[in-house]
Amino acid sequence: MATIQALTAKEILDSLGIPTLEVTLWLDSGAAVVTSVATGTSTGQFETTDLRDNDSARMVGRGVLQAVNHINQTIAPALIGRDPTDQAGLDQLLLQLDDSPRQSKLGGNTLIAVSQAILKAGALSQNWPIYYYLQQKYQLTQNLTIPTCIFCMIDGGVHGSDNLDFQEFQIIPASFIDYPSALNLAVTLYQKLEEVLVNRKAVHATGTLGGFTPNLMTNSEVFDVMIEAIKATPYIFSQDVFFGLDASANNFYYGNRYHLKDKSQAYSSKELMEYYRTMRQAHKVIYLEDPFNLDDTKNWLELTAELGSTTSVSSDSLTDSNSKRITEVSSKKFANTFVLKPSKQATITELLLCVSAARQAGNQIVIAHRSGETNDDLVADLAVGIGANFAKFGPVNRQERLAKYNRLSQIHQEIVNRNAVQTTLEVTVAPIVAATPEVTATPTISNPPV
Ligand code: PEP
Ligand code: MG
Repeated sequence: MATIQALTAKEILDSLGIPTLEVTLWLDSGAAVVTSVATGTSTGQFETTDLRDNDSARMVGRGVLQAVNHINQTIAPALIGRDPTDQAGLDQLLLQLDDSPRQSKLGGNTLIAVSQAILKAGALSQNWPIYYYLQQKYQLTQNLTIPTCIFCMIDGGVHGSDNLDFQEFQIIPASFIDYPSALNLAVTLYQKLEEVLVNRKAVHATGTLGGFTPNLMTNSEVFDVMIEAIKATPYIFSQDVFFGLDASANNFYYGNRYHLKDKSQAYSSKELMEYYRTMRQAHKVIYLEDPFNLDDTKNWLELTAELGSTTSVSSDSLTDSNSKRITEVSSKKFANTFVLKPSKQATITELLLCVSAARQAGNQIVIAHRSGETNDDLVADLAVGIGANFAKFGPVNRQERLAKYNRLSQIHQEIVNRNAVQTTLEVTVAPIVAATPEVTATPTISNPPV
């Protein structure tokens, strides 16, 4: 059995130039893994605590040196000598070290940094890629496949430049298109979109995520521009490629109204619903994330009931990757798709519980990046290893986003190679919750990683 030999943390900068945590974990073999924590721009009420130093003399108060200290002084001694494949047990231990409701003592960012390192170290101890380790250990998916990617093209809302209200305008390649071809489609469209924006003399600077932030005046104009870009390629709109939207509606909701620049008067919930209906019809928006404010659940419900059979009505901020919230929101049918981001909660075990909670009622799952990213590509392995329906890693621009897409390319190649090799293995299914009695299954698992 491999054991944890050492664990150290340090402060690094994320893609927004804001401090975050990087952890290195060494096994007794001398092999090591490195991981880092992504941070969101919008943080919700069901998220874990993002512990910051609040020392205004340093890093505008956003330093994470206290968190570094917690890992080096408190957490590392508790983990040394432990088996890194005991993800559930070690995550439980982390939550015992900070038993406050939202991990405000040690910080949720502190704990997830360590939990991610444990996951990577567990896979390394088996000499398996992380996606394969996840699949074998938890069997949350039967097949290893690359999820359909949701590529952001245009940044609006809090990630943009204040003219467009919706946060992300996305394109989604048809699911029959394989990953290398989907990536080709996304790159082609991204480049064509730039040409269209240049020709229109629209600003083609980029926003927080790396999507364009053009000086278009209405949200619906964006769809016209994207259709123009698609027409300049061999791809057929609504056959090869569809649209998606992260509305992030809580960011344009105030005074009981939705403030969209498409109209001088703010929208009521009913009017916004009508806007989405038209948009679904006219622009083939098949993915709609955070369409209404968090307390406007009546309209979440109505939208899911009306469009849910053809559209992914997706909850990011409504559930904050919190398994109990997902169970509740799913049972009330407010959404049919759930966005999962590891750093919204304190442990990988909680992320796996979210997968089970979402799957229980047959919902779809999106594994997603955050706006403050690092070059860590763990989310790509997570997306494949748990069998996510979608992966949402931003635009095909900026190294911190491309790290994830490039990792998917590598995994795709490994899966192709693996399918060419037929071998049989026996595996033990690990429980996701420490308290669950261990189940031993002996399914025939073909295709070890190549
Ligand atoms: C999102 O809303 O999907 C997003 C990436 O934002 P954040 O970084 O705030 O999580
Ligand atoms: Mg979102």
